[in-house]
Amino acid sequence: MGPDDHPADPDGIREAARAIRPYLPRLLDPATATRLDRALADQLTTADQLTTADPTATDRLQTLLAGNDDTAWFLTAVLTDTPHFRPPYHQPRYLHRQTGGRATPAGDPGPIAAARYTCPHGDYTWYRPDVGTPIEDCPTHHIPLVHG
Ligand SMILES: [Zn+2]
Repeated sequence: MGPDDHPADPDGIREAARAIRPYLPRLLDPATATRLDRALADQLTTADQLTTADPTATDRLQTLLAGNDDTAWFLTAVLTDTPHFRPPYHQPRYLHRQTGGRATPAGDPGPIAAARYTCPHGDYTWYRPDVGTPIEDCPTHHIPLVHG
């Protein structure tokens, strides 16, 4: 993303910050993942308390995510998936790449979309990979995530 790009969608930045949290341990070393997870949770819960999207908190989230190549890649991928703002691992174009280039039959609707679960406090998003996977708790609030 260059400096001349149009401003990023604040909703997309917030969703990227919520949705990247389950993936931080695979994107970063453990200490950095823990530190960034805590920083993102702080900003997301602060903005939640203000009830409106706080532009300063959104700026801080963008800065946090842009601070590392892998998290910056994740943010860019989420922002280009308007209006769903899904993690790259749940976007059809990335999923097709993961199948190893196997030809998909004509009319194949592609992978079934994973169900989205969020914390009621708005600081965590998680995609359930399949119906056999137990629904997680929010790691910040220790309450079950809700579908939607
Ligand atoms: Zn939460």
